Amino acid sequence: MSFSLNNLIRENVKGLKPYSSARDEYVSDGSKMVFLDANENPFENGVNRYPDPQQRSLKAVLADQKGIDVENILLGNGSDEVLDLLFRAFCEPKEDNVISLPPTYGMYNVLSGINAVENRTVLLTENFQPDIEAILKVVDTHSKLLFLCSPNNPTGNSFSEENITKLLNGFNGLVVIDEAYIDFAPNESWVSRLSDFPNLLITQTLSKAYGLAGIRLGICMASKELISVLNTIKPPYNVNGLTQLKALERVLATKTVTEEVADILAERSKLMEALESIPYVDTIYPSDANFILSRVDDADKRYTQLLEKGIVIRNRSTQPLCERTLRFTVGTPEENKKLIEVLKDIINE
Ligand SMILES: *Cc1c(COP(=O)(O)O)cnc(C)c1O
Repeated sequence: MSFSLNNLIRENVKGLKPYSSARDEYVSDGSKMVFLDANENPFENGVNRYPDPQQRSLKAVLADQKGIDVENILLGNGSDEVLDLLFRAFCEPKEDNVISLPPTYGMYNVLSGINAVENRTVLLTENFQPDIEAILKVVDTHSKLLFLCSPNNPTGNSFSEENITKLLNGFNGLVVIDEAYIDFAPNESWVSRLSDFPNLLITQTLSKAYGLAGIRLGICMASKELISVLNTIKPPYNVNGLTQLKALERVLATKTVTEEVADILAERSKLMEALESIPYVDTIYPSDANFILSRVDDADKRYTQLLEKGIVIRNRSTQPLCERTLRFTVGTPEENKKLIEVLKDIINE
């Protein structure tokens, strides 16, 4: 058996044509057109017109930066919307299944619940890598999506190239690599490998390194055939006009983003060093992301102590393989200093 996009797509989706909106036909190119097609209020206020449903300006810049074509990109209202579109395009409710690898990002399970699609979970190994044999064992002909979060949330590590390659070769459904934290990682994005693997799909986001969690912009990159399927089911105006403007401005500000990422990485090292001197911290896991997972003596107690002193972190103790762990997001230098002070303050409490 090998990968076949046609076998992957839900029957009802195969026949769909994308909704054709007025602005699909004519996007303002700066020339003086009179738009009387979409029942908008004609008085200018910056957002009185419908946004470009294909986000052409933003995609052009992203395509250039990532070394792919515009037709390899779909944008969504956060990567959460992109992930939801994948379920709706490929997974028949109560029939198909997806595979995810806990401990990992919670949305894969949430979305499988919402879409009534079974989520087959296969635990990561002790060193937080995919368990290839165990994964391939739970696969059947209804397994449509395999979620690989790399760098993984909440463990912080990247999956090895060898492991990901094995899964791309061994799984006939779609391998979704969630690269929300790729800008903090030393390893390269899998985007450069799109032409090697027809079943590879990558998601990225402007919510983390790009500092735009509030505007909701998710990026999906895959073969043109795959992207075209997703285009037939996406809501026409899923990325609003303010988001498109702000995203464009930010992706063009490459120097600022690079500097902020460098600052966050420097702060991450400092924070790691500080954690090493805290006696109730047992383990500090290496991180390719903008957060640190640590094992402590009593996670519930430490979490509450920090909260009482005004610091909100994430208690990940209920996740498998994450017993007694806390997840610290790297903040500003001032915030991290405060965190370290408080971590020391509670040593004897
Ligand atoms: C934060 C995060 C996202 C971001 O999702 P958006 O909807 O784009 O904000 C995606 N995947 C993972 C693993 C994350 O941790």
